[in-house]
Parts: sequence; C-alpha cells; structure tokens
Amino acid sequence: MKRRDLIGAGLGAASLGALAGCKQQACESGTTTTGSTQFHWKMVTTWPPNFPALGTGVNFLADLITSLSGGRLTVKVYGAGELVPAFEVFDAVSAGTAEMGHGSAYYWKGKIPEAQFFSSVPFGLTAQEMSGWLYFGGAMELWREVYAPYGLVPFDAGNTTVQMAGWFNKPINSVADLTGLKMRIPGLGGEVLRRLGVTVQNIPGGELFQALNDGTIDATEWVGPYNDLAFGLHKAAKYCYYPGWHEPGTVLECIVNRKAFDRLPEDLQAIVEAACRVASQNMVAEFTARNDRALQTLVDEHGVDLRPLPADVLAAISTVADEVVAEVGRTNAMAERIYASYMTYRKGVSRWTDIAERALLNARES
Ligand code: CA
Repeated sequence: MKRRDLIGAGLGAASLGALAGCKQQACESGTTTTGSTQFHWKMVTTWPPNFPALGTGVNFLADLITSLSGGRLTVKVYGAGELVPAFEVFDAVSAGTAEMGHGSAYYWKGKIPEAQFFSSVPFGLTAQEMSGWLYFGGAMELWREVYAPYGLVPFDAGNTTVQMAGWFNKPINSVADLTGLKMRIPGLGGEVLRRLGVTVQNIPGGELFQALNDGTIDATEWVGPYNDLAFGLHKAAKYCYYPGWHEPGTVLECIVNRKAFDRLPEDLQAIVEAACRVASQNMVAEFTARNDRALQTLVDEHGVDLRPLPADVLAAISTVADEVVAEVGRTNAMAERIYASYMTYRKGVSRWTDIAERALLNARES
C-alpha cells in the first residue's frame, strides 16, 4: 500500500483538518478538532531513507501509527544521517532528541553486550522461533528490563528472516581462506569470524558498496538477495555465500523514549505496540516473497556465483560460535538470565522445529 493511500484510508476529514492546523515541527503536541491531545513524534533510524523493506518498513510503521490513531499521533521518519548518524540512534532516543528509533539491538553491543540476544545469535532462532521466544517465552520482559535504565521501551518491529553469509571477492574453500580477510559483519557473527582470523569491521549499510568496491573491505554481509541487490553488492564482489549462519532471524527493534511513551494515553500506547507487531509480520512477508525473486535476478541476469559455505567451514564457525555466545552469556547477571532463557527455549523449540518444519521441508523436497 502506498503511504498516501494508507493515510487517506485511515484518516477522517476532522483529523486531517487538525493535522493541517498543526503540521509544523515546532508544534510538539496540540489538540484535534474533537479536543483530544495530538502528538507529533520523530523516528530516527539506522537505515538509508526509503531503503527497500528496512526503510520502507519504517515508513509503513510510521504511517500505520498515524492511520490507526486517526492522526492523534503522527510519526515523521528520519533516515540514517538525516537527524543523527545511524549508530547514534539509541543515544538520541534515550536522550529524547527523538521519541522513537528503529534499528537492531546488536548495534549497541559496545554498550549492552547482552542486547545482542534480542537481535540475532549465530546458529540461533529463526524469525518464527524468535517470535515464540519474544511473546511466549519471556524474552520481551527481559528485553524491557535491559533497556529500562536507558529510559527506553523496546518493541519487536521487523525481522529480516534468514540472511545470506555474504559477498566475497574470492572463493572460500577452507577455514584458511578466511585468514586475513577484511570483512564487514556486525554483532556476534563478527566476533566469531574475528577469532578465525578475519579483520572485522562494522560499517553502516549505506557505505557498504563503496567500501567493498574500493577494496577497503574484501567481503561483507548485509541482509539477503532483496536488499543486497538494491545496494548493487554483486557489482563489487563475485561470490555470494549462504546460509546466513550469523543472522538466522534478525529482529529489528523500535525503541521508544520512556517519558514520551508515558505521556501517551493508553489507547495510543496500545496502537504503538500493535503497529509494531503488524510491521514485524509485514516485513517477514515482504522478505519471504521478494528474496527469491531477487536471487533469481542476481543469478540469472547478473551471473552471480552462488555457493554454500563448505560443511567443514560451517562446522569450524559453529564451534567458535558456541564459545562466543556462551561468553556473552557470562558478561553480567542480566546476561546470564537472558542466556539461560535463550538456550532453554532454543533447545525446546529446536525439537519441535525438527519434527514440524524440518520434516515437512524434507518431505516436500522428496
Ligand atoms: Ca546482516
């Protein structure tokens, strides 16, 4: 649905009139023609403006909140660098510079190592399994506890689904081929590869193509075919590897300044929460449908060399990954609780996924 259509469908004439009367940025809040308080929020993001699925997913969320609230809560989106740089989103929302932010929890690992469990863990949960942990496994409560000291309320507001292992300027035939590579890979996956001899960098998405193209890095992961094609990464590196062992189902978060959230009446708070869940589901659907088509384009039209990582390379990565994840789980008392919850849930849900998804996919294949 187009942004214009969504707003047009959701807003009545009265609230549109109210918006027209209070559309300046300086107008933080006002009243609608029906007398209810009106709120105007800013949302800063870690994504390039309007970037497929990520940036547009943020637009979808902002429009949905505006629409569901009948214009009583409007959200203006700022892409990375438009109001604050990508990696300053957490601090900006914590300080109240913006009321909302959109990114992923592993970007803040330098500040909160245990937050990484709420984005993605190597060889961890898929998008579907992650939803189970968040909403029915106790994770949402833990996540809110972790962000509370920063004056932030976190919401699940998107998921990339299983990512790709990344783009490389040479084939990876053995673990030795990783040694000395300069690669952009954030989060725990980056720490795993660092221990296998990779020089790891974290670079915002918008700078990836240039870095790969001019040789600043030899390899990069980003998301998956749909997003990678949009950045043109196939023009800068020939080899595309799978699976995305490091990001099996990365949650994208919406963070809300606690004081701003508390100023909302209960119905608008409920709308923010519900809109985040809808936006998350919408993003899963979009990635699922569009990744396949983009992959076909990459392989058939651009001649990309698509390869699975060799089994022995994945096995070596997996061994180190277990150590890295366990270490993060020992960082502090909170990390211990999160790690215990995550591992208990992963063990149980893996058993179910084996006899549900895995068995079904095997049967479908044969
Ligand atoms: Ca990624």
